[in-house]
Amino acid sequence: MRMPEPDARVLASRAALLARLREAVPGGVIAEDSAMRPFETDGLTAYRQMPLVVVLPSDTQQVAAVCRIAREMGVKVVPRGAGTGLSGGALPLADGILLGLSKLNRILDIDYDNRAVTVQPGVTNLAISQAVASRGFYYAPDPSSQIACTIGGNVAENSGGVHCLKYGVTANNILGIEFVTIDGDILRLGGKHLDSEGYDLMGVLTGSEGLLGVVTEVTVRILQKPETARAVLVGFDSSEKAGDTVAAIIAAGIIPGGMEMMDKPAIHAAEDFLNAGYPLDVEALLIVELDGPAAEVDHLIAEVERIALANDAVSCRVSQSEEERLAFWAGRKAAFPAVGRISPDYMCMDGTIPRKALPIVLRRMQDFEKEYGLKIANVFHAGDGNLHPLILFDANQEGQLEAAEKVGAAILKLCVEVGGVLTGEHGVGIEKRDLMDDQFGEADLAQQMRLKCAFDPDHLLNPGKVFPQLHRCAELGKMVVHKGNLPFPDIPRF
Ligand SMILES: Cc1cc2nc3c(=O)[nH]c(=O)nc-3n(C[C@H](O)[C@H](O)[C@H](O)COP(=O)(O)OP(=O)(O)OC[C@H]3O[C@@H](n4cnc5c(N)ncnc54)[C@H](O)[C@@H]3O)c2cc1C
Repeated sequence: MRMPEPDARVLASRAALLARLREAVPGGVIAEDSAMRPFETDGLTAYRQMPLVVVLPSDTQQVAAVCRIAREMGVKVVPRGAGTGLSGGALPLADGILLGLSKLNRILDIDYDNRAVTVQPGVTNLAISQAVASRGFYYAPDPSSQIACTIGGNVAENSGGVHCLKYGVTANNILGIEFVTIDGDILRLGGKHLDSEGYDLMGVLTGSEGLLGVVTEVTVRILQKPETARAVLVGFDSSEKAGDTVAAIIAAGIIPGGMEMMDKPAIHAAEDFLNAGYPLDVEALLIVELDGPAAEVDHLIAEVERIALANDAVSCRVSQSEEERLAFWAGRKAAFPAVGRISPDYMCMDGTIPRKALPIVLRRMQDFEKEYGLKIANVFHAGDGNLHPLILFDANQEGQLEAAEKVGAAILKLCVEVGGVLTGEHGVGIEKRDLMDDQFGEADLAQQMRLKCAFDPDHLLNPGKVFPQLHRCAELGKMVVHKGNLPFPDIPRF
């Protein structure tokens, strides 16, 4: 994985940088190798890089001071929440500050009248729901990593979860953001109200993967818990039939609270891990959750059972208690760590396809397994068409990491080929950076980079992520290669 070459001038000025950072963030600067080691990677553990320095500010003013110093000294900044990201977005740079937001972890305001909660970015996703649970409210987007991931990271990745089919992803559930620009300016977008004036910059910042600004405060919308929620476990003797059932449920006008699918390897791994009660004699399993008033839920469950049986379901089990419903979900939510027990390493991919393309994509993945000699376990948000193939490999076996990367790229290209996109919720980061050309044309990418330039003209915020080429802002749209003489040869092209 190629990253921007470290800037020798910045490396040489480390002592001066540390002195300025220590003055701006007293007690929050980590510069010893052993103490920086925990920050060298994120959820994409195949890649590691020690940062130049780690800074842990305690408030927004300190974040702004760090950004100002970085801009003045021409030093790169990589924001980091909990480091659970799966596309390498928080991978440090050898000549960059790793800016950890974990100390900004206070819930600032709970406003039930406006159904809004304002938090600092280091608050975990789950902590928001826990803070309002006693009054019957919750925060809807629920990534499986919700116990650890931060709301700042969720905003940066536009994270989703099993309940986003009905309730929307992060972008649909945040009302306001405070963020710090690389110049150290503190800006606010939105508030406790629904729409914001002017351009929809919240939409721009959400999912911007730390490339446009550092999120320092988030106001989220909270929802009242549904009166009832029940889940149905539906087993099939083929993934194609499960895929057809997903399409048929949506086509019948039913939007389940969540609709997830697991294939045989994932079902067995999850069941071995925590006995969720999954059937082991099926090739594919759907978990369909219906929520709302009890009478409506009863009616919808009967409809889902009818549709499933019409599509040749071999088993159908409805949760009979809240404990059983939670057990159904516990298996799905623990599927990633469960797969980690059956393979020394796995690479989790994240692509999105039109729902109707599910059977063909699953079939082609079986071909990839044969072609590359690696197994694939599938766990995905079936209702959204958001796939999470887990490619199993052993990094200690020569060539397996490279083979896994090739399978991953083949799967993502397939997603684009069938009319889908490179990412559903894990972001582009470094993982899918070099595939962006498969999704976007040159003009598209140039336009997106111009937007980046408007926020960060010197490319100091998280460079080397998302965009397959680093451009100087002045160069955008003007690159002509004449007789093989590449302009700006010093700028890395990945
Ligand atoms: C077991 C497991 C399950 C997962 N399940 C899901 C899932 O169901 N759905 C899902 O969407 N994701 C899932 N993820 C991925 C991950 O948890 C999310 O992407 C999450 O939002 C990352 O949050 P974080 O705090 O760990 O961010 P980090 O990993 O620290 O950072 C992620 C990105 O956000 C940027 N960033 C972080 N904080 C800020 C900030 N305050 N301001 C600006 N930029 C910032 C970083 O630079 C980086 O680019 C899963 C991960 C794991 C390990």
